[in-house]
Parts: sequence; structure tokens; C-alpha cells
Amino acid sequence: MPGYRGRFAPTPSGPLHFGSLVTALASYLDTRHAGGTWLVRIEDIDPPRCPPGTDTTILRQLEAFGLHWDEEVRYQSTRHEAYQAALEQLAENGLAYPCSCSRKERREYAVYPGWCRSGVRHPGRSLAWRLRSDLGERPIVWQDRLFARQCFDPAELGDVVLKRRDGLWAYQLAVVVDDGDQRINQIVRGTDLLDNTPWQGQLQRALNLPRPHYLHLPLIAAHNGQKLSKQNLAPALPTDDLSVRRFLHEALIALDQAPAPFLNDAPVNEQLSAAIAAWDSNRLQPRMYRTLPHAIRTEK
Ligand code: GLU
Repeated sequence: MPGYRGRFAPTPSGPLHFGSLVTALASYLDTRHAGGTWLVRIEDIDPPRCPPGTDTTILRQLEAFGLHWDEEVRYQSTRHEAYQAALEQLAENGLAYPCSCSRKERREYAVYPGWCRSGVRHPGRSLAWRLRSDLGERPIVWQDRLFARQCFDPAELGDVVLKRRDGLWAYQLAVVVDDGDQRINQIVRGTDLLDNTPWQGQLQRALNLPRPHYLHLPLIAAHNGQKLSKQNLAPALPTDDLSVRRFLHEALIALDQAPAPFLNDAPVNEQLSAAIAAWDSNRLQPRMYRTLPHAIRTEK
């Protein structure tokens, strides 16, 4: 596809693990197979959650796996003005509103009931900003490249926070503004974000940004059935050459690409060129989870 632009957008809250490798690799292969441009964006909008230096660790890990990016790495922490401008545009159009409610006050509700929609309830408190999910495009429908037709009513998901009461930007706004600004037209990421896509769809429409194509990938589950994640302390990817070769092979298997078994300990470049040439997203099985391969399990 001419003009394909993909990206991997990790939050630097911890080093990459096997699950993040699978996501990065899928996005990389899908982009390279299409002759596209692949970007890396560090989503460091929440400094308390991001230990210093983790961005460098992540970039070194990607390099060790041969996942080289095009264009300069973008850091969301440098993008305050762009997010502010987007928020103002939404507010001017009545699609974002300030909210003074605390988490405690709405604790009994599955989604925020919109109390501040018609005016701030507790003037004088610090304010978050929320999306008017009832007023934007509804429903949001897209053809997911793996999970087929998706249809959600964002109003049922609620008025998501765009800017937090502590002044930090929220993921939904930052990701949409940057995907738009970086002209990303193909998004390959985990199914944990499938039900975030409706809000992002509303924001794209409200900000006049084109809607990218989406492919949501099965998540890698640890043997206890839980999603492999930084929060449950998934082990960091190794960067020594031998382990990298084996992990790469396992990641290709996890992506249903059936790499030739003899490539299992081939050098990274060799594995990657074979995988780019053979990449076929139609081989991916639409499931929510995939279990961590045994070969990876024993790693520290
Ligand atoms: N930063 C998000 C994460 O690490 C991913 C964002 C995205 O792919 O849209 O989970």
C-alpha cells in the first residue's frame, strides 16, 4: 500500500516484555511488507508512572531485535501545546467540558454519569476535562482487520477523561492528536485497546482527522491466564544475541506466521527478512489471548 504509515507507541512504564515484542513485531512486519514507514513514539505523558531511562531501555531492546524505525522518535512529553490546542477546539465545539467530580463521588457508577455536562458541580476544585461522548459521532463502526466489523456506542462507554485533574494529558487525546499529526494510517496494537477505539473515532471526527485502519492483536497471556504486562511484572526482553534469536522466532509463531523451524536460531536479520517477505496478516487467528510459549516461560 503506497503511503502506509505505521507505528509502535509504547508507554515507558517498564521495559518491553514478550507481549510488547509481539505487538511491535506485528506492526513492523505489516509496515515493512507494505513498503511503508514505521515510527516509534514514546507515550510518556504520565511521568510518575515512567521511571527515568526506560525510554532508552525500550529503544535499545527494539534495536537488539532489529526493529529499526524511520524518522525521529517522538516523545509525547514534548507535545503539550498540540494537545492543548486540540482540547480547546473540542471545548469550543461543545464536545469537551470541565469536570470537578472526584473518583470517589462516582464510584458506584460503571461510567461517569455526566454530572458536570451542564456546568461544573463543585467550583473551586481542580478540573479534569471530559469528552461529550453523547454528542459526537455515534455509533462508531469500523472493520477491524482481525476482528471484522466492530460497532460501539461511545455514550455507553462514557465521557472519557481527556485531561486529568492533576493537569496530565490522558491517553485518548494524546494518541489521536499524534496519530493524526504523524499521518499514521495503519494501527496494529493489542486487543486491550479495542474498546478504546470508539472514543478515538469520535475524537478523530471531531478534530477532522482521517480514520486509520485498525488491526487489534491477541494479547499474550502468562501461564496463570493473566495478560502479560508491565503491571504484573512480566520479565523484560533479553538483549543478548542468542536469546534474541529464540524470542524472535517464538514471537513469529505467536503471530501465526509459521516461520521455518530451521530459522529458529538464525541471525536476527535473516529471520526478519524472511518474515517480512512472508508476512500475511490473514494467518492471524482472531482470539483475545494466546498463551506464552513454553520456550519463553523459563526465562528470567
Ligand atoms: N501507549 C499504549 C500502550 O503502551 C499503546 C497506544 C496505542 O497503540 O494506541 O499500551
